[in-house]
Amino acid sequence: MKRCKLCLQTDTRPGIIFQGDVCQGCLNFSNRKSIDWDTRILELKELTKGKRVGVAISGGKDSYFLTHLATQVLNARPTLIRIGDPFGYWPNAKENIQNLQDRFELPMVQWRLDFETYRRLCRAGFEELGNFPWLDVLIYMGSLRLAGSLGLDVLLFGEYAGFEYGCTTEEESEVSFSGFSDTLRWMKRILDWGDFAFLANANDYQCGVQSLYTSYFVPWSASRNFEIAKTSYGFKDCGVDRAGYAVRYSQMDALGWGISNRLKFQKFGFSRVTDEVSGLLREGKMSLQKAKELIEREDSRLSVAVLEDFLRVSGYSYEEYNAIAEKWWNKDLFVKEGNTWNLKSGNGINAQVARVQNG
Ligand SMILES: [Zn+2]
Repeated sequence: MKRCKLCLQTDTRPGIIFQGDVCQGCLNFSNRKSIDWDTRILELKELTKGKRVGVAISGGKDSYFLTHLATQVLNARPTLIRIGDPFGYWPNAKENIQNLQDRFELPMVQWRLDFETYRRLCRAGFEELGNFPWLDVLIYMGSLRLAGSLGLDVLLFGEYAGFEYGCTTEEESEVSFSGFSDTLRWMKRILDWGDFAFLANANDYQCGVQSLYTSYFVPWSASRNFEIAKTSYGFKDCGVDRAGYAVRYSQMDALGWGISNRLKFQKFGFSRVTDEVSGLLREGKMSLQKAKELIEREDSRLSVAVLEDFLRVSGYSYEEYNAIAEKWWNKDLFVKEGNTWNLKSGNGINAQVARVQNG
C-alpha cells in the first residue's frame, strides 16, 4: 500500500489514479488555480435564474453551505430536501437540522424508508457487500424523485467525490444516475420492488430535474463550509473528539452508518481519517506530521457509539457482528496474529502501530 506524498491518500482506494508519488486528487486540487471560478459561478447563476431550486441536504455543514449559497449568492428561495434514516445522531446533529430550518425559514421535505426495510438493507449490505451503497441510491435518487414530484427545476448536490478523491481527471457539473444501476438491481433482489415504487424505473432517472454538483461551480472545501456554517448560522460541531474521525464536524448524522468507515479500513487499509486529513493537507490546514499521527492513532478505530447504533438498526448481536465482520479483512493487506489483525510490514505509514483489535 502506497500513500500520496502530499495528502496521504492510499493507492488501495478503489479507482484512484496515481501519477508517480502524487494522487490525482492532489493534481485535481492544484488544477483549481487555473479555473476561472468567477465564470463558473456566473454559469450557476444562469442555470438557476428564474428556476425552482432545490437543495439536497443532510443537515450537516455542507448543507448549510449549499443553502447559504442558494439564498445569498443565487438569490433563490430553495426547497430543502432531506432523505432521513433510522440511525442515531452525534451530539448537536439533530439541533443542527432544526437550526437550518429555523435560520433560513425555507420549505423542507423529508422522506425515509420504514425501519424494517432499512434493517434488511443494512444486514444484506453488511453480509454480501461489506458496504452500504444503497444509502447513496436513496439519497441521490430519493432527492431527485422528491424534487421531480415537487416540480422543481434544478437540484443542488455537494461535491463530486470521484473528482475530489482523484478517481477521475474529468470534472462533472451534472450528476450521472447511471452509476447507480448495479446497486438498484441488487436492491431489487433484496427487497420487494414495490418498496421502491417511489424510486420508479431506471429510464426515468432525471424526472425533468437538472441535478448539479456544486463543486463544479464553487471550489469545494469541507473546512470552509464548516466555518461559514458555524460563524454565520450557528452550526455546532459534535463537541468531542471521536474514535475513527479527524475532525468534529463531519458525518454527524447517521451515527451507525459510520460502520462503513470501519469496513473500508478492513477492506482497503485506510478509512475516514485518511479522507479527512487529505483535504486539510491539500488546503495547508494541517501539518504532514500531525496528519500522520492522526492516521496512525485513529484510522483503524471504531467508536463504541457507532457500533452500538449499527447493532440497534441492524438487529445483530455483538457476537453476530464480529463473526460477519471477520470475513471482510483483506488478507493481502492484513495478517492475523492471535486475535489481532495487523497491517503487513511495509504497508501504511507505520505498520507497528496499526494494530487493531478484531471487532
Ligand atoms: Zn494526494
